[in-house]
Amino acid sequence: MEELVREVFKEPMCDNCAGRTVGNLLSGFDNKQRGNVLRTYAALLLDSGEKLDLDPSNFHGMKFRNIKLESKQQKCKLCKNFFSEKINELSKSISKKLDKIEFNTFLVGSVPSHEMLNDEEKLQERLGIEFSETIKSEMNRELGKAIEKITGKHFDLKIPDVTIVVDNNTDTTRLQLRSVYISGGYQKLARGIPQTKWTCRNCNGKGCTVCGGEGKLYKTSVQEIIDKPLLKAAGSKESALHAAGREDIDARNLGFRPFVVELIKPEKRKLDLKKLEKEINKSKKVKVKGLKLVGDGRPLIIKLKSDRYEKTYFIDIEFEKDVDKKLLKLVKGLVKIPILQKTPTRVEHRRAKLTRKRLVKGISYVVSGKRRVKFTIRSEAGLYIKELINGDGGKTQPNISDMIKNKVKSLQLDVLKIHS
Ligand SMILES: [Zn+2]
Ligand SMILES: [Zn+2]
Repeated sequence: MEELVREVFKEPMCDNCAGRTVGNLLSGFDNKQRGNVLRTYAALLLDSGEKLDLDPSNFHGMKFRNIKLESKQQKCKLCKNFFSEKINELSKSISKKLDKIEFNTFLVGSVPSHEMLNDEEKLQERLGIEFSETIKSEMNRELGKAIEKITGKHFDLKIPDVTIVVDNNTDTTRLQLRSVYISGGYQKLARGIPQTKWTCRNCNGKGCTVCGGEGKLYKTSVQEIIDKPLLKAAGSKESALHAAGREDIDARNLGFRPFVVELIKPEKRKLDLKKLEKEINKSKKVKVKGLKLVGDGRPLIIKLKSDRYEKTYFIDIEFEKDVDKKLLKLVKGLVKIPILQKTPTRVEHRRAKLTRKRLVKGISYVVSGKRRVKFTIRSEAGLYIKELINGDGGKTQPNISDMIKNKVKSLQLDVLKIHS
């Protein structure tokens, strides 16, 4: 320990930086206290007549009995007085920034300057790192304590509402706000609406002739109808909708599809979801139910994306010719054979080309005109229902169109139920 003391105080060193070299020894002390003990020990050695090559500024203000030491105060070589001075200012200015947002928990992520890290490395080379703590971890902890004191909010390592990034190279602080995640289920009661906002690729959302100045290709979307009141209430500008699958733009969805909406960089977190649910449900096109705040939405999003739900569809079809009722009876047999589907032409641009094998779990129909049949089909997750009907140029086998030797003129599709 005497060896360590000789090395540590060769340069101007504050209590925190000195104490950090033995930060992993003794509990019940902070580094400032440890450093003070080391400094006093060095002063005792000096006063007892030991010849030590130490920087006198380290003992400024101390009263020796046996020696005379000329010194003036100097900045700590390692932290440049971060712990004794800068931390006060910094924690105040950060707390002021935090005043503007609603949060309960925070985390500090410090970036020490290159100079600090360099000096720390040099000192560690001389002393070894057996008992020492890093400057980064002490900065995070001490800033955290100071901010806790001012704001009354709590430090949280796992899922903090705010992460405060302090960069000592640029002398800047940045707040990273954790997204608010809200789960629920939605119905889409109108056709012609995509699930998520389709930004115009031509102008990237700025507005151009292709998109008629809108910056997007559809006037609205399930996402926009759901997020509008939520974004406003949370003081957020951007959302992401994560849902368990999607219905086609021209299909309705009368079953409730599970989703998580993520509000990015929210200024507020306390949301009156009952009220917001009512506000969303003023829309005639989209209804939601069961809105609930979820702490960390990411595991739920992963689950939503990987869970496979059976679905029941209602399809109203008009065929090109009169329907042959004898042939129509054959479609009941679809429940007995696996359906082989090559990736449909309409999604080829975003899906890998492969052949899927899916099952039809149930099928019934009502003939409602010479050329019109209404089907109710329950299928395994991932079955392309339109292609089961029209055959997609033979890429889906077997298919209803081939079975009844009649082509589809038009169809309307509803998701009746998502069996979760
Ligand atoms: Zn220091
Ligand atoms: Zn555009």
